[in-house]
Amino acid sequence: MTETIAFIGLGNMGGGMAANLAKNGFTVRAFDLSDDALAKAEAAGAIRTGSAAEAVTGADAVVTMLPAGKHVEAVYTGEVFGAAKPGALFLDCSTIDVATARRVIAAAKAKGFQMADAPVSGGIAAASAGSLTFMVGGNDDAFAKAKPILSAMGKAVIHAGSDGNGQAAKICNNMLLGATMVATCEAFAMAEKIGLDAQTFYDISSVSSGQSWSMTSYCPVPGVGPQSPADNGYNGGFAVALMLKDLKLALEAAASVNASVPMGAQAESLYQLLANKGEPGQDFSSIIKLLS
Ligand code: NAD
Repeated sequence: MTETIAFIGLGNMGGGMAANLAKNGFTVRAFDLSDDALAKAEAAGAIRTGSAAEAVTGADAVVTMLPAGKHVEAVYTGEVFGAAKPGALFLDCSTIDVATARRVIAAAKAKGFQMADAPVSGGIAAASAGSLTFMVGGNDDAFAKAKPILSAMGKAVIHAGSDGNGQAAKICNNMLLGATMVATCEAFAMAEKIGLDAQTFYDISSVSSGQSWSMTSYCPVPGVGPQSPADNGYNGGFAVALMLKDLKLALEAAASVNASVPMGAQAESLYQLLANKGEPGQDFSSIIKLLS
């Protein structure tokens, strides 16, 4: 069994994930540029280290949860490759562009390491609760080794195919989510203008063909459907800025393979508009305010 794990990037997501690894009996060697994040990880049972290179020294596996592709590439090529033990397993759980994911995995393999991309679905609450969904890109052997580690942080670990396919699944899913949230919001806004009560529209549409996760699990109208960020002033949840980040990654990937994604492009444009209007930290269902 893999026992010692280096965890790099202990922010909103990584903090909870590292804590769950420690809770599940793994030895966690933690590193983050932020002192505050490191202190929290230490309080949650991780061992504090002074650099990424120090964290990975002697570790059986490395998990990274960093902001973007440039951070991931810099950490692996700049520190991890040079200090990790031969044959160590690397799991990048950050949401990054497919091209960088594939480039870093290829570089890791060339140096004799195993690596998979393993981005997550689920926000900060799921990271803390250990109920994330992991979408994993990598070969069968890397997936088999990754599974017990990821299972300690999530409720579902799904093999999405070869290198980079975890990121592909993540951005296709979130592009769909962005588009369905926009469509759900415009339908609620229009229903109200026509004189159809939001609760009544929900009762009908949630059991009809317009139903989607955006409606029945995350309803953007306060007081309608199960508890969601709409009921909390659109605070908490999945920030507009993060949805915009994922939509930009989706469009970048679409352009690289000449995929036509008109709904994703429209969603990106609307989320950019919303972010520019201020409050990019609000939940992404707040896009209903633009459309009402
Ligand atoms: P965050 O900004 O809270 O955390 C990132 C951490 O990485 C920070 O603590 C930062 O100090 C650290 N860091 C940056 N560069 C570093 C380096 N060179 N070495 C060590 N540490 C470094 O971000 P987050 O919300 O935790 O998101 C992390 C990743 O997870 C992102 O790719 C994001 O898109 C993805 N994600 C986030 C959510 C969410 O709801 N927050 C959901 C799904 C996926």
